[in-house]
Amino acid sequence: MVTSLAPTEASVVEKVPKGLFIGGAWRPATGGGTLDVIDPSTGEAIAAVADATPEDALVALAAAHDAFAEWKDSAPRDRADILHRAYDLVQERIDELALLMTLEMGKTIAESKGEITYASNFLRWYAEEAVRIDGRFSRNEAGAGRVLTMRQPVGPCLFITPWNFPMAMGTRKIAPAVAAGCTMVVKPAKQTPLSMLALAQILEQAGLPGGVLNVITAESSGKVMQPLIEDPRARKLSFTGSTEVGRTLIEQASKQVLRVSMELGGNAPFLVFEDADVDAAVEGAMIAKMRNIGEACTSANRFHVHESVAEEFTRKLAVKMGAMTIGRGTEDGVDVGPMVNDDQRGTVDELVQDAVAKGAKLLTGGKAVAGAGYFYEPTVLGGVPADARLLREEIFGPVAPVTTFSSDEEAITAANDTEYGLVAYVFTNDLTRAFRVCEALETGMIGLNQGLVSNAGAPFGGVKASGFGREGGPEGLHEYLETKYIALNV
Ligand code: NAP
Repeated sequence: MVTSLAPTEASVVEKVPKGLFIGGAWRPATGGGTLDVIDPSTGEAIAAVADATPEDALVALAAAHDAFAEWKDSAPRDRADILHRAYDLVQERIDELALLMTLEMGKTIAESKGEITYASNFLRWYAEEAVRIDGRFSRNEAGAGRVLTMRQPVGPCLFITPWNFPMAMGTRKIAPAVAAGCTMVVKPAKQTPLSMLALAQILEQAGLPGGVLNVITAESSGKVMQPLIEDPRARKLSFTGSTEVGRTLIEQASKQVLRVSMELGGNAPFLVFEDADVDAAVEGAMIAKMRNIGEACTSANRFHVHESVAEEFTRKLAVKMGAMTIGRGTEDGVDVGPMVNDDQRGTVDELVQDAVAKGAKLLTGGKAVAGAGYFYEPTVLGGVPADARLLREEIFGPVAPVTTFSSDEEAITAANDTEYGLVAYVFTNDLTRAFRVCEALETGMIGLNQGLVSNAGAPFGGVKASGFGREGGPEGLHEYLETKYIALNV
């Protein structure tokens, strides 16, 4: 049962097509099945979208496969123009897109606008890159003969995206794939399909030919995606989501040795050294921890603070976190929205209670908010013992555990003591220490004296169990290009 919404809320939901987008046309799922989209701030359904069958998914792959024959040879300037137009359309519609995102995902309108700006930056960045794809020509080292390389689109791609950044995790893949001349089937998370459907509508209006982008929404992701991953018409899989699901998909992809990019989970350490500007570190911590309600792969998962500044840092962080206003993301003055669902909130609470039972000191927050929706109090824990689960597991919620260290070596060892390696944050005013620590950290990205690394022009990605491949910057385009070498007998 879809609930009644305020008039503007209802109109932005109404405007989004709810069907499958296949071969340039919107259509219902075979058999007419649908799945509900839930507003996490109320627990009520706000829309129902098509629930694709495995057969629908295969039709979408066939559309991507057929469209590739022409699209691969399309003029780079035409691809660039489409991406530029899509960027402009997103900018024009940013208010309604932000409201839509907040309704399905929960974050505040200001945060949704931040994500949509970030998401659209990929459209613009790759519009600018589409016309700069090049190759190489060089003389053979022996003197005779020449080496020529050319870059060609990989082919039809499969994209699977998570609910936490419903649009940006899409444009990070779609924009470089369009720029490279690839076609694609995208499956967004079932929790947040509306933002992706709205994006597909925008790309359609921007003139993207039918079949280049196909979007399927489904209740059972495994059932619809596995046949595609194992189908030889697919040439690339790019996944953003949990490490657990990533492992399963890598196994499935191994059957046909499918080219794979994996943007997986994180357990980001946030290091504050004794020479750091503590106020700046607290500001950075608020961004690194509370952006997206703590539901970000880049979220600072654990704070390692030098013992000489730990008390000041923790006290100031607890004051700021404790002063945040919790509420529905659509309301003015709200800082923190709900967790995405009750399961996620339950997991966060379990991790907090485990740490407290093992001796951590609760400085603010520490429990779910009673009433409708899936709200959880911003929480700071001091003196967290090494065996607390939340130092090892991805929290994915508004919880900041603080531990102390007494030497750089101890800090580096603690930071690297995880299977993950996505991002780390380092706060220090000592340049030599900064470089030494950055070199020693086993992560794909580092925020040096800043709590945010996301940037369309920079290579985003991890090492170890946080995955492989990069999104953003020139590296993000190479994910969608094959290099062909021609040995010239000249
Ligand atoms: P998830 O459970 O792994 O789901 C991600 C996507 O995979 C969703 O579309 C999901 O569909 C789909 N999926 C689940 N099981 C599948 C299967 N067997 N076959 C095919 N698809 C399947 O992750 P999440 O809870 O949505 O997102 C949070 C995770 O994403 C966190 O671990 C976070 O760190 C990670 N993340 C990483 C990055 C990065 O760039 N490294 C960015 C954002 C998030 P359903 O919705 O239908 O389950």
